[in-house]
Amino acid sequence: MNTAKPAVTPMMAQYLEIKAGHEGALLFYRMGDFYELFFDDAVAAAAALDIALTKRGKHQGDDIPMCGVPVHAAEGYLLTLIRKGFRVAVCEQTEDPAEAKKRGSKSVVRREVVRLVTPGTLTEDTLLDARRHNFLAAYTAMRGDGALAWCDMSTGELSVTPCPPVRLGPELARLAPREVLLNEAQEADWAEIVTESGASLTPLSRGSFDSTGGAARLCRVFDVATLDAFGTFSRPEISAMAALVDYLEITQKGKLPLLRPPRREDADGVMQIDAATRANLELTRALSGGRDGSLLSAIDRTVTAAGGRLLERRLTAPSRDLALIRSRHDAIAAAVDAPDLAQALREQLRHVPDMDRALSRLSLERGGPRDLAAMRDGLARAAEIADRLAGGPADLLDTGLESLTGHEDLIDRLSDALVAEPPILARDGGFIAPGFDSALDEARSLRDEGRGVIAGMQADFVKQTDISSLKIKHNNVLGYFIEVTATHAKKMLAEPLSQTFIHRQTTANAVRFTTVELSALETKILNAGGRALEIEKRLFAELSVQVLDHAGPIGDTARALAALDVTTAMADLAVGARWCRPDMVSGRDFQITGGRHPVVEQALRRQGGVPFVPNDCALSDGADSAALWLLTGPNMAGKSTFLRQNALIALLAQIGSYVPADAARIGVVSQLFSRVGAADDLARGRSTFMVEMVETAAILNRADDRALVILDEIGRGTATYDGLSIAWATLEHLHDVNRCRALFATHYHEMTQLADRLSGAQNATMSVKEHDGEVVFLHEVRKGAADRSYGVQVAKLAGLPAAVVSRARDVLTMLEKGEAEGRKTTLIDDLPLFSVAAKPAPSAPATDPVAERLSQVQPDELSPREALDLVYELRALA
Ligand code: ADP
Repeated sequence: MNTAKPAVTPMMAQYLEIKAGHEGALLFYRMGDFYELFFDDAVAAAAALDIALTKRGKHQGDDIPMCGVPVHAAEGYLLTLIRKGFRVAVCEQTEDPAEAKKRGSKSVVRREVVRLVTPGTLTEDTLLDARRHNFLAAYTAMRGDGALAWCDMSTGELSVTPCPPVRLGPELARLAPREVLLNEAQEADWAEIVTESGASLTPLSRGSFDSTGGAARLCRVFDVATLDAFGTFSRPEISAMAALVDYLEITQKGKLPLLRPPRREDADGVMQIDAATRANLELTRALSGGRDGSLLSAIDRTVTAAGGRLLERRLTAPSRDLALIRSRHDAIAAAVDAPDLAQALREQLRHVPDMDRALSRLSLERGGPRDLAAMRDGLARAAEIADRLAGGPADLLDTGLESLTGHEDLIDRLSDALVAEPPILARDGGFIAPGFDSALDEARSLRDEGRGVIAGMQADFVKQTDISSLKIKHNNVLGYFIEVTATHAKKMLAEPLSQTFIHRQTTANAVRFTTVELSALETKILNAGGRALEIEKRLFAELSVQVLDHAGPIGDTARALAALDVTTAMADLAVGARWCRPDMVSGRDFQITGGRHPVVEQALRRQGGVPFVPNDCALSDGADSAALWLLTGPNMAGKSTFLRQNALIALLAQIGSYVPADAARIGVVSQLFSRVGAADDLARGRSTFMVEMVETAAILNRADDRALVILDEIGRGTATYDGLSIAWATLEHLHDVNRCRALFATHYHEMTQLADRLSGAQNATMSVKEHDGEVVFLHEVRKGAADRSYGVQVAKLAGLPAAVVSRARDVLTMLEKGEAEGRKTTLIDDLPLFSVAAKPAPSAPATDPVAERLSQVQPDELSPREALDLVYELRALA
C-alpha cells in the first residue's frame, strides 16, 4: 500500500504557513470576492455564523472543510464573530493576480495578514456603538504596585492610572473594557478578575510589558525624547502603556492609530466607586442589563456621538477636584442664563460629525472620502460655533474660542477638493470636485467624451446593420460590446457585416460582437477612467496626510465641541427638569432640599400618574442633623428610592452637573458605596448572603470620613437574629470607626433604639397613612422611627389570598402580645395550626362575604329588579 501523502498544493502551503503565524485567530483568507476559512476555522465559523460548511479539495488525502463570506458583507460577519469571543486575522491579496501569473502558471498570489480584529481594536462605525467608548486595557503589577492603561483606538484616547491589585476589579467595572491585556507571567494572578468583568483576556509576552524597552517604544510613538513632557510615570504605568502600544502594532500590522499623548489619571482625583455600587445604582446600565432605565439614559440629552461618550466618561468617573467641578457648574450656569444662545448652539452641534473616529480611521488608512468630508463639515461647524460664541459668556467654553478655530486653510482646501456628498469608499472615485485638479478634469472629460461617442456609435451601427434593436452594452467581463437578439445572428455573422463585426459571445437569447473601432474607444475610455481613478486616489492620500498633519488641533476642536455639547445638554436638562446648581464645598456637608430620584421621577412622569414626592436629607454634622440616618418604614414605602436618590445627587454634582433638587450643599464625596441586602441580589452564583457580607466588609474596611455610604436592608439574607445583629454591629462600626456620611435602611425596628443612643445618628422614617386597615404610602421622609412595619397590609396590597392575610394578622397579634408581656412567644404552642384555623368548622359562620350576604337573602321575597341589584352587590363583594 502506498502510504505517501499527496503533495500539498501551493495555495494550501501558503495558507498553512500564514495560519501557523496566527494560531489564536480565525483566518479570513481572501480569494477573489470572498474570505474563505478552512479546517477547524471553517467548522467553528460556520457554526458561529450559521452558514453552510462545505469542502474544497483535499489535504493529505482528507477533505478540507471550508466556508466563506462575501467580502462586501464581511463586516457584519466580523461583528458576530467578535461578539462571540473570536478574534479574526484578515488576510488579503497583496499583489495583482496578473503579477503572480507572470512568475509562472503555478504561482500563488501573494497574501498577507493586514490586520488582526479583536474586541478591543475595532474602528469601523458599523462595528461600534457611536455613543460608547470601546476600550482596550492593559494591566500589570510589580512589587505590590500596579497600573492600568487603556485606550480607545477608535478615538485615540490613551490614559493610565496607578492601580494596586485591590482596585483592579473596581477600575474594570468603571471602564468596562472589551479586552484586557495581561503579562503572560501574571496571567494566573488576574485572569479571574478580568474574566469576571466581562472583558476578553489576551495574554502577551513579557517583552510587550518590558518597561525599559517600553519607554523607548512610547517615545518613538509620540515622537519625543522623553516621556516627561506628558508627566511622570511609574514603571508599571510605562509597562502597561507600552503593552497597549505593542498590541496595537501587532494587531494593526505596524500601522498605529493616532494616539493622543497619554493622560495620567490620579486615583485621588476621582470619586471611588466599586463594581457593586455601579451596578446597584444603575449608572450606565440598568440591572436588567440594557441602557434603558439607567441614570445615563435618563440624563443624556447630548446631540453628538462624541458628547455622548464624554458624558458617559464623566459619569463613570465623577471628580473630586472642587475647582474643576465648580467650573463645570459655571459653564452650565452660563448656558442656563443664555437659553437662546444655548439652543442655537445645540442646533449647530447636531450637525457636527464624529471627527474623532473619522480621524482614527484615516490614520489607520482605513478611512474614506466621507471621513475627509467629516473633517470639512465638522471644522466648518466649529468655526460657525466660535462665531456665535464670540461675545457670549466666556464660561461656556473653558478651553477658549481658539480651540474651535484656526483650521481655515484646511477647511478651504477640503471644501475645494471634495464634492458635497462623497461616497464612503475611495475605491470607485467620484469624490473629488470638478475644477480642483486639471489633470483629473482632463482624464474625466476624455472618459466621458468616450461615453458620448459610444452613444453616437450605436446609432451608426443601427443604420449600418439595419437592426433597430442593436445595443451597445457594458459588463465587467466583456467590457463594451454590441448586442443583437438571436434572431439577427445569422445576418451579423454573414458577409458583409461579418467583416466589421467580430463575434465575441453567444448566449441563449443574444449574440455579442465588437469592432476594431469600439475596442479602440474602449481602451481610450478605460485608460482615461483608470487615470482619473489613480489621480483621485493620489489626491485622497494627499488630503489625508494634510488632515493628519493637523490631527492634534483637530482633536482639540473635537474635544471642545464634545464638552460644549455636554454643557448645553446638561443645561437643557437642568431647565427642563427643574434641577438646581449644587453648592460644592470641601467639608462634610450634605444638605439636600427637595431632592428627587432622576430616573424614578422621569418614569412616574411618563406614566402620568402620581407625581414624585421630593424629600430633604441632611447629613451634615450639626445640632439638628446627623451624619448617619437610620431609615425605617414598610416595604414599598420608598426607602430604596430615597437612599439611591441621595447617592445619585452627590454623583451628579461631582460629574459637574446640576442636581434634581430645590437646593443642595455638598461636601465633596471621596468614595461612594451602595449595598443592597442579599434578597434583592438574585443574579449571583455564589451564596448571596456571602456576597453581601463580603461587600459589606469592603465598605467597613475602606470607607473614610469623606465617603458616602448607602446600605439597604443589610443582613436580611440570614435568620432574623443573625441579620439584626450584623446590621446592628455594622451601623455601630460606620458610626464609630468609619465616621462617614451614611443612610441605612432597615426593617428591623429594634435598631431604632440604637440610633437614639448614638450621638451622630438619627432616626428617619417613611410616612404611611393607615385607612380602614389599608396602608397608603405618602413617600415622605420624616424624622423619627416607624411605629410598625405594615408588612401584612403590604402583603394584602400585593394580592396575597385573603385567608393568608387574615392568618398572618393573627400570628402578628400573638407575637406582639408576647413581646409586650416580655415572654418569648412559642408560636407552635400559642397558635393553633394554620390548617386547623383556616378550615371552616361546620358550624362556624361563613367568612366569605358573598356567602354571608347570600345567607341573609329571602329569594321568595325579591322582585326581579331587587334580584338584579343583588347580583351587582354580590359582584362588588366578590
Ligand atoms: P422600599 O425600598 O421602601 O421597598 P422603594 O424605594 O422600592 O420602596 O419604592 C417603591 C415604589 O414607590 C417605587 O417603585 C416608586 O414607584 C414609588 N416611590 C418611591 N419613592 C417615591 C417618591 N418619593 N415619590 C413617589 N413615588 C415614590
